[in-house]
Amino acid sequence: MPEEIVITSHPVHNLPDYESSYHSFSWQKEEQYLTGLPGNKGLNIAYEAVDRHAAGKLANTLALRCIRKDRSTRDFTYTDLQRLSARFANVLVNLGIKKGEKVFALTGRIPELYIAALGTFKVTAVFCPLFSAFGPEPVFQRLSRGDAKVLVTTRALFEKKVAPLLDRLPLLQFILLTDEEVVGNNKVLSLQGLMQAASDEFLIPATNPGDPALLHFTSGTTGMPKGALHVHHAVLTHYVTGKYVLDFQPGDIFWCTADPGWVTGTSYGIIAPLVNGITNVVDEEDFDAARWFSILEEQKVNIWYTAPTAIRRLMRMNIRPREEYKLQFLRLVGSVGEPLHAEAVLWGEEKLGLPVLDNWWQTETGGIMIANYPSLLVKPGSMGKPLPGIEAAIAEITDKDINILTAPGTQGHLVLKKGWPSMFCAYLHEDERYQKCFRGEWYITGDLAKRDADGYYWFVGRADDIIKTSGHMVGPFEVESILMEHTTVAEAAVIGKPDPVIGEMVKAFIVLKQGFTGNENVQQDIIAYARKKLGAAVAPKEIAFVSELPKTRSGKILRRLLKARELGLPEGDTSTLEQF
Ligand code: AMP
Repeated sequence: MPEEIVITSHPVHNLPDYESSYHSFSWQKEEQYLTGLPGNKGLNIAYEAVDRHAAGKLANTLALRCIRKDRSTRDFTYTDLQRLSARFANVLVNLGIKKGEKVFALTGRIPELYIAALGTFKVTAVFCPLFSAFGPEPVFQRLSRGDAKVLVTTRALFEKKVAPLLDRLPLLQFILLTDEEVVGNNKVLSLQGLMQAASDEFLIPATNPGDPALLHFTSGTTGMPKGALHVHHAVLTHYVTGKYVLDFQPGDIFWCTADPGWVTGTSYGIIAPLVNGITNVVDEEDFDAARWFSILEEQKVNIWYTAPTAIRRLMRMNIRPREEYKLQFLRLVGSVGEPLHAEAVLWGEEKLGLPVLDNWWQTETGGIMIANYPSLLVKPGSMGKPLPGIEAAIAEITDKDINILTAPGTQGHLVLKKGWPSMFCAYLHEDERYQKCFRGEWYITGDLAKRDADGYYWFVGRADDIIKTSGHMVGPFEVESILMEHTTVAEAAVIGKPDPVIGEMVKAFIVLKQGFTGNENVQQDIIAYARKKLGAAVAPKEIAFVSELPKTRSGKILRRLLKARELGLPEGDTSTLEQF
């Protein structure tokens, strides 16, 4: 077991004592820090994130800094964001868009995306951002399943990905082009033109905290993508997690590297920093190690929220960040989206002077649910402990029943007690699929995990990625973590390959670190190491060396795709596959 680490770099945390905060926590008490719409007219994300700050001390504070590909920047204060989002809200009203109707964005990380999100919340319509790298078919699937009425996009993306599909999208009424100055026909319009003609004052209508605000598509392991719907009340989770997990302090500069096409890029790339009144940095460009470190330096980033894939890519390189870049402002590095191996946590400690703090959540939960907190002892490889206000448990699940397992170390389904503010309220048009996620008062996450005697949660795997070999249940993460310890291994993914004798055989796909070649000696050495650590029954019996692992755009290893390819089966929904 790797050594434990206590972070001492910042003496005053918003959550100085996890245990006592967990026991005294109340969502109602936290809600008092939000303002609510004037005149008791409810709760609206855009008001909490922007307008209330624009009306107070933070009016001229930098709210959003967008870094373009060429490194030039565009800055927006809270007042700028208030006015621009008001304009966008007026554009939607002028087009006749009503409460609950769906406004999509397909743009990349440009300012218009952020303004459109806030403006959409203001009119109580529902915002759905898409990855701009999606091909025409995934775009079509989402626009059509999500009942898109308005699409904000660029001329190039429109022509390449949407124009050929227009005939198949009868509900799509307006396409607003961000880079078109001339107002087009009745359907394809210039966003700039409409924004200029619209007023920059907008009175947010009464908003029920339970009114839908956001739609995020998430790929299932089988079937088509599901549209998880989130409500305005989710802003309370964003506020609380920004404060207690990411430890936002007044004046902080925050950078979340996720694209809003993935829920992390919306909950934490838009809402959480703004609702907490800090400065949110956005980079238009994708991963680039040198660029990323220089952004951390130049922008004096205090809190950096990224993903294991990015960290593993950095680990593969020969960089000495603290010697090569001035990173003295960096106070917290967080990670989400995939298991963060102990090696990566320790890499952070060694190379950045900060252990990478893993946290767990998913599209359906709308915000961070289990986390490592800066004031809490870190057990590298663990996801940490439940957020105050969240009750998590390990359970055994049958067709109809649920049985909570309390013995420490027992493996089972990770479940959460229903009812936190950012819990998804539906899978759009798929009520049966939604209902199946619940047993009584518990939400079933689809992940397997263990809780140790100290209350820390340890990820085991997706319930559907579990391998059964010689009667043992093997979680891929457990095997991958050991493989990652081997000096030659940069990344590993493990699947179960059907075997007539042992049911399934553990097979590993391995990306080697720079400078190593995948030959038989290395293969034998890795297998021997895994056997020593895991035992012969659990260690991989087969190893394949690959140059990249198939991953989603949010960095998740697509084990089911590796398995389908291995077995020559149909690949299923690959719309979120990252192309290298
Ligand atoms: P998504 O809805 O695309 O964000 O995917 C959510 C899933 O990603 C979870 O159900 C987990 O399987 C995985 N995941 C997210 N964060 C973590 C983490 N910290 N450790 C392990 N798995 C994670």
